[in-house]
Amino acid sequence: SAEHPYIGRFAPSPTGPLHIGSLIGALASFLDARANHGQWLLRMENIDPPREIAGSDERILNTLRRHGLHWDGPMLEQSTRSKAYDAALQTLLDAGLAFRCSCSRRQLAEFEGIHRGHCVAEVNPNDCAIRLAVPDELWQAHDRLQTPIQQNLARDVGDFILKRRDGYYAYQLAVVVDDAFQGITHVVRGSDLWVSTPRQRFLQQQLGFSSPSYLHFPVIIGSDGHKLSKQTFAAAVDDSRACDNLLLALRFLNQPLPTGPNTASVEAILEHAIQHWDTRYLPPFMGQPESNFY
Ligand code: GLU
Repeated sequence: SAEHPYIGRFAPSPTGPLHIGSLIGALASFLDARANHGQWLLRMENIDPPREIAGSDERILNTLRRHGLHWDGPMLEQSTRSKAYDAALQTLLDAGLAFRCSCSRRQLAEFEGIHRGHCVAEVNPNDCAIRLAVPDELWQAHDRLQTPIQQNLARDVGDFILKRRDGYYAYQLAVVVDDAFQGITHVVRGSDLWVSTPRQRFLQQQLGFSSPSYLHFPVIIGSDGHKLSKQTFAAAVDDSRACDNLLLALRFLNQPLPTGPNTASVEAILEHAIQHWDTRYLPPFMGQPESNFY
């Protein structure tokens, strides 16, 4: 509604087709947006070509359409956003909040791989990453579902990378710049990204952006005990079984299931799911959130 604007988003990386875990993420963010009469935007996070698989962006769009998950407005592609990322980097460099760094992974291994305050290698401006300087203090992030997470960014994460040495922009920078650019008010995503939220809130503050509200739902765990991911080749969603896939995703999200005629089409299933969406039914965290590769 006008008094309580809601702009949500789904932000897949085209590193493979959607698997059931990522479909659950799409569905949860879609339902939360629609149940709140909000917009649901789509952003293709295609900033990491070495990890991408050709054609998976088209496959992802097709899977979303076949499951009735129609987004509002044009999709935003991060591959078109270099100017905005460069501008944010320049702002942070000019303010002395970010710095160039040529420390190698091997050199940082001595410090648990964490960059804390000072460089161990001399800076080579032609071969360097850009890092954000983080404070040695507790940084808290709130969540609509989880108990607040506390992180000492310097101790737990270190000065994190905004632009990689190989020239690619880091997820943390792109996600913060684009959530602000798209006016995102509500982020709904898997709990594997919960550990990233304090970093993102800190970066938002450094760039003068307001922070969206966050909801992290538990990610589906594969039989090996790890998060299902496109990198581990979790099976692609079968688009010809869209109704079954939606019902499975709803069951995982612990939402009331439709019956009878309400299961006849993706539209009917989604209509029922929007009407009954209740975040209080979401399953709780299973143990400590696993840190991910970001
Ligand atoms: N692109 C990220 C992923 O696919 C998600 C980013 C986010 O939701 O903040 O894991």
